[in-house]
Order: sequence, then C-alpha cells, then structure tokens
Amino acid sequence: MNLDPDLRLKILEKIGVYSSRFSIPEPLTLLTTKEVLDAPKETTEGRRTSAYKYYGVSYIQHNMIFINVRKIPDEKTLENTIVHELIHMRFPYLAHGKRFNKLVRQGLKGKSFSPYRTRKKVHST
Ligand SMILES: [Zn+2]
Repeated sequence: MNLDPDLRLKILEKIGVYSSRFSIPEPLTLLTTKEVLDAPKETTEGRRTSAYKYYGVSYIQHNMIFINVRKIPDEKTLENTIVHELIHMRFPYLAHGKRFNKLVRQGLKGKSFSPYRTRKKVHST
C-alpha cells in the first residue's frame, strides 16, 4: 500500500484504538524500512536489516512496532498485521500458534483485554 499522510494518520488511529482495548501503552510505530534503519540500533537489534521481509515486526522490549505498509497488499492484511503486532505487545510470553491466532481473531472482532501483569511476589514480611 502507498503510505500517504492520510493512511499514516489512519494507521496511528487504529493503533490507538486497539492499544486502549488491549490495555497496553501505545507503542512507538515505524511505518517504513527507512524509519527502522534510522531507529537506534539497540532498539531494532535482531530485526533491523531483515525487517523488510515481514508485514510487521514487534520490538517488545522497546515498546516499538514496525508495520511494513509498502509490502502490505490491502486493508484486510493491514488490519491483521496491526492486531498481530499489538497482540505480541499484550501477550509478550506467547509464541505463534493456535492460542495466538485465536487472540488475534478476537482482537479483530473488537475484544478488550485486561492489563498484562507479571506474577511477581511483591510482599515480604
Ligand atoms: Zn508475530
């Protein structure tokens, strides 16, 4: 898809909506391979020069995602990619698979998720 200012705005709005439904902070969003290459190397480590191969990449540790708009063929794939990457942010422990795909489908249908909590013991006596 061609990334014009309208599409850029639309994507950022969608990310805002889904982020709030998924109870995650809005990630920093990169929309071109140039933005990936321009980002600090330590933030894109492991998926920097290879990012162009994918529809999307999530850099979970850095609360950052890349949506490869130019590679994405249509609206449906765009929506899927956005939700896929945001599900990674909300469920950072979850690998690709049946459960992951189910969450993506639910997310696409408008489901909300409560905030992610790590199970840390916080009390000591
Ligand atoms: Zn993925």
